[in-house]
Amino acid sequence: MAILKVKDLNAGFNFEDGFRQALYNVNFSLEKGKMHALVGESGCGKTMSAMSILGLLPKTAVITGGEILYNGENLFKKTQKEMQKIRGAKIALIPQDPMTSLNPLYTVGDQLLEVLKIHQNLEGKKAFQKAVEAFEMVQIPCPEIRLKSYPHEFSGGMKQRAIIAMALCCNAEILIADEPTTALDVTIQAQIMRLLNDIKTQIQTAILLITHDLALVGENADEISVMYAGRIVENSQSNNFFQTPNHPYSNALLNALPSNKEEKLETIKGHPPSIHQNITGCKFHPRCKYCMDICKKEIPPMYKVGENHNSACFLNNGIINL
Ligand code: SF4
Repeated sequence: MAILKVKDLNAGFNFEDGFRQALYNVNFSLEKGKMHALVGESGCGKTMSAMSILGLLPKTAVITGGEILYNGENLFKKTQKEMQKIRGAKIALIPQDPMTSLNPLYTVGDQLLEVLKIHQNLEGKKAFQKAVEAFEMVQIPCPEIRLKSYPHEFSGGMKQRAIIAMALCCNAEILIADEPTTALDVTIQAQIMRLLNDIKTQIQTAILLITHDLALVGENADEISVMYAGRIVENSQSNNFFQTPNHPYSNALLNALPSNKEEKLETIKGHPPSIHQNITGCKFHPRCKYCMDICKKEIPPMYKVGENHNSACFLNNGIINL
């Protein structure tokens, strides 16, 4: 069951010389107990989509259309005060660098207790007990002692666990994990992903994983949406995607992944377009080896290419043959 639906989200930024669109009709949903990965290169709009959900866009950003339905209610209609209650408590962010979320001047425990006071109205012994339980849940050893530590006394992985504990002690229904393991080494990365998977299965939390790492998606996500230049170009259940990727951009990303075979890695020629570039038609066309005339003029619609599998590429319209 979808707990959150992003429907036809359109957004952009106001620059001195005018407005530039950054997101085009973005659609995806999050289900309880499932991990949905939003994948793409830097600047493709995945973080902007996530920040729209949290109501944390910069002042220059403008939502120009669409809605975000959380348990059926449009988050764009909520006041700042209402959003503050939802953010952190119901929908929590696990950032790329946990140091940006932890205040170095206070102990991790003080910060966790503050969250419990604001969002759960819990104080004193009850709050401390809840904080201990949350630390146990994220497998931080000796929780009573570690709650008294300052952030600089935690390793990167421990800080990330502490942030996840804050979300758990408020019973967050949705976790938005924005490149949560980028700053961590490979072993710790695997531990954090295992923890997120345990939370997903045991507490039925819905997780939005924002990443550029397809290998991470293959190992962890249930569903995937591939973004390019502000649009979702392919979406699918993760296993279908890896068995039968459809969009040329998805294929190019997969071909750029290292494999066990001693093959030369393929690269995608060119660069993703900047928000200031006005590219007509399919925005991937300057980099696409299958580009046809129609691709330069028209925006490809989403074609159904399988069960719960869609791809925005003219190669699927059944009329054009390569
Ligand atoms: Fe390539 Fe055309 Fe498909 Fe775009 S629509 S991905 S340019 S073949």
